[in-house]
Amino acid sequence: MTVTQERPMTYSKMRGIVSFLSALLKGKKVGLGDFLHKCVSSQHICQHLDTQKILRRQSKLRKGKEEKAHLSSANGDASQMKPSDFDYLKVIGRGSFGKVLLARHRKQGGYYAVKVLPKKMIVKRKEQQHVMVERSVLLKGLQHPFLVGLHFSFQTPNTLYFVLDYVNGGELFYHLQREGSFSESRAAFYAAETAAALGYLHSLGVVYRDLKPENILLDSEGHVMLTDFGLCKEGVAVGGVMHTFCGTPEYLAPEVLRGHSYSPAVDWWGFGTVVFEMICGLPPFYSCNKARMFENILHAPLQLRSGVSEAACSLLKGLLERDARRRLGASRDIVELQEHVFFASINWDDLVARKLTPPFNPQVTSPCDVSHIDPEFTLQPVPASVDGRCQAAGASEAFPGFSFMDPAESVAAVPAS
Ligand code: ATP
Ligand code: MG
Repeated sequence: MTVTQERPMTYSKMRGIVSFLSALLKGKKVGLGDFLHKCVSSQHICQHLDTQKILRRQSKLRKGKEEKAHLSSANGDASQMKPSDFDYLKVIGRGSFGKVLLARHRKQGGYYAVKVLPKKMIVKRKEQQHVMVERSVLLKGLQHPFLVGLHFSFQTPNTLYFVLDYVNGGELFYHLQREGSFSESRAAFYAAETAAALGYLHSLGVVYRDLKPENILLDSEGHVMLTDFGLCKEGVAVGGVMHTFCGTPEYLAPEVLRGHSYSPAVDWWGFGTVVFEMICGLPPFYSCNKARMFENILHAPLQLRSGVSEAACSLLKGLLERDARRRLGASRDIVELQEHVFFASINWDDLVARKLTPPFNPQVTSPCDVSHIDPEFTLQPVPASVDGRCQAAGASEAFPGFSFMDPAESVAAVPAS
């Protein structure tokens, strides 16, 4: 984009620019895969999962358990799960590697989001570790009200499948794009639910690392659901450090850009950029020139538009603190945020109990309503290959142990400690 002449900025022009930039941000997702590949290809980025430890943590199941058990028994043996058990109805999202589809279980009729990842692309980009981490983190994260739950994962010779809760209130990004920005009280609600999910992951030693509005979905009532665990890092305690360079450029924390070791505080930076974007309409250090954006993240002063409240300014300055050790959340994690005046109106116990009324109700008409999903996705044809009537394959070399893990069954099989 070349700007030839300075003209006064009207509201509608601003909206136009926001939509343009939003489309640009979406478009950049494709290039990001290559960028990430460069970043991670030479490093062993993910620690192995201590499966037993995780399973022991799973002392109870989230509310979808009954449905899962039902689905599982409907199939006789969950290990026989295969793509043709589902009807694939719509494309509802696209990630770095593959598509996310709305699917209906043929026998039981429940609706699911099925994330379909072609193995070839993952292996080519050496992202096996990310995918395996996504699966194991999903297995871990079943108990939180604001984290998307995994029902099953299975594979065919060419493809990996994640069967997830279908969350149909739309991406936060989708609503933000349409509305330009949110009121501070609306932003505080989404921020608090997101923070609760992050705090929970941190308490399990998981750092999310890829917080961005596209990964924050709204459910049918308007509550937050965090999805996409592909870049999570397991086994990091608050105060612990990691050294891998991953993430989405506009949301990357300075310590990540500098290649320094980083800690769970990296998520509070990403969280700060999302809160900023909700209130101001664009990410804080955005530039369409990637090098300039990196430079801005490292050095540019934080600029807040007039009209932002003192509480919001203070929160954003605390979160977007370049020195990770001094960042809000760096020492006592979510507790520091809970104590902040910006969240003074939030009763955190009620919040986690989903007792707070969401500021916006997506008014979905049925479990398969896709009206809040970007038509950019829903108008795409469902690829015939996903159903394929393939037989589920044995464990592939690149993804050993991926198939046939039903979290409900895994948990049930391990005695609670
Ligand atoms: P990236 O790495 O580019 O962020 P990804 O390959 O990890 O993407 P996801 O972010 O998990 O893929 O999914 C891509 C999109 O699909 C999401 O941004 C969201 O719009 C949609 N999506 C993902 N999971 C669900 C779900 N459970 N319910 C509804 N939509 C979903
Ligand atoms: Mg994503």
